[in-house]
Amino acid sequence: MADNRLILAIDQGTTSSRAMLVDRQGAAIGVAQQEITQHFPRAGWVNHDAAEIWETTRRVSRDVLDGVDLGRVAAIGITNQRETTVLWDRATGEPVAPAIVWQSRQSAPIVAEIVARGMADTYQRITGLVPDAYFSATKIAWMLDRDSALRNRAEAGELAFGTIDSWLIWKLSGGHHHLTDFANASRTMLFDIRALEWSSELLADLDIPRSLLPEVHGNSEVLCMTDAALFGAEIPVSGVAGDQQSALFGRACFAPGETKNTYGTGSFLLMQTGSKMIASTRRLLTTIAWGIGGEVSYALEGAIFVTGSAVQWLRDGLGIIREARDVEALAASVPDANGVHFVPALTGLGAPYWDAEARGTITGLTRGATAAHIARATLEAIAFQSRDVLDAMRADSGITLAELKVDGGASRNDLLMQIQADVLGVPVVRPKQVETTVLGAAYLAGLAVGVWADREDVRDSWLVDRTFEPTWSEDERASRYQGWQAAVKRALSSKE
Ligand code: ADP
Repeated sequence: MADNRLILAIDQGTTSSRAMLVDRQGAAIGVAQQEITQHFPRAGWVNHDAAEIWETTRRVSRDVLDGVDLGRVAAIGITNQRETTVLWDRATGEPVAPAIVWQSRQSAPIVAEIVARGMADTYQRITGLVPDAYFSATKIAWMLDRDSALRNRAEAGELAFGTIDSWLIWKLSGGHHHLTDFANASRTMLFDIRALEWSSELLADLDIPRSLLPEVHGNSEVLCMTDAALFGAEIPVSGVAGDQQSALFGRACFAPGETKNTYGTGSFLLMQTGSKMIASTRRLLTTIAWGIGGEVSYALEGAIFVTGSAVQWLRDGLGIIREARDVEALAASVPDANGVHFVPALTGLGAPYWDAEARGTITGLTRGATAAHIARATLEAIAFQSRDVLDAMRADSGITLAELKVDGGASRNDLLMQIQADVLGVPVVRPKQVETTVLGAAYLAGLAVGVWADREDVRDSWLVDRTFEPTWSEDERASRYQGWQAAVKRALSSKE
């Protein structure tokens, strides 16, 4: 008899809460989605309402389960926006402050103090992260530093901290379980990723009471059962990972060296490095990919701020295309960018440059330059920026990339994927399943309860849509990349 078991995969993202029912083939047989409100109390601050996050998650979960035989639902998997910070009251289960979203810069002054105290290297050594307001640690400190009543309650053990995974698990379990997973814990900037425990030194440095913190568990194991009243049956929650780690798992990057790039608004590259924790000397982040069955795998991570959003700028800023996907036809109307380079540093440059003051720059314009050349240069820029990060990963890890696995909205662009293969000199492999992030959570949950026997079984369920093979000669690759690097130099704020 065919295995008809299903996984409920919850994808709690920055802009929406989504639920998807996934079968053993990785096919989505039901989806529900609801937007969540973005609160901008001041310039640079971004907050969410944790109660709304839970309400929307509960609603979309109920919507996809509606009419489904609950006996078929083997498990729940969760993937979530990372680093976003929630504090709640253990007695009432209600949030005690607005959730501070990963993008929010409101705790940047606390990061500046860390740097001024000369502690930045200590944080990086222990957590693998370059201190930044993105990560949860300074967001917790910000909440407690600004409200002495809240601090007193935290010290009395009345409050709980969690990233979104913890918050949802607390709610799903009816307030019985306060836990997180290795991957989400590694984004708090409080977790010792080598010793695999909360760091007493860093908790003391930021004056954060240990009693706030969740227990840390594996990414693929039964973490709790849902409160039966919620969906009408107790269902095990057995897979959790933050969005990028979930995409890495969903893209089946199970062996060291396997690397994925998600092309969305920005791009996120993660290279799985196995049991080796590689400290970056090139300003990449070292993070936990997942911990499963007592074995932890690490990853190197690089974020590029502006990739898909550069295409949005062509549409909204320049008005040379009507829809994002039109960029492909416009760029394909010319054989190359005719010497034009576009460095889309529209909000500064991320990894490996980390130059917040860099600004967008177009070089190589001549009388013959057209909108088509700029469109082509934009696609090339997305590919070149990925190469910048991958070269840094290669140098840090000593691992040579065999192929690049891709996903995300802009990976649908065939020309972009071909240019990416040409720029890197390795094949680029695109899956049939596009929803890789949510699929990762489904795989993690399903592996824990036997829906998939093992990772090879998952790999076998994987369908390749298309592989793009490199076509440029080595010389061409080298000279075009040099052209890009020269353009980047001009975009950086401190020019040598
Ligand atoms: P996110 O998850 O970050 O919201 P998506 O994965 O939905 O993003 O991808 C949307 C981004 O990809 C947008 O920035 C859009 O401009 C870009 N995009 C969408 N389709 C294409 C395409 N065919 N070619 C290039 N960029 C595209």
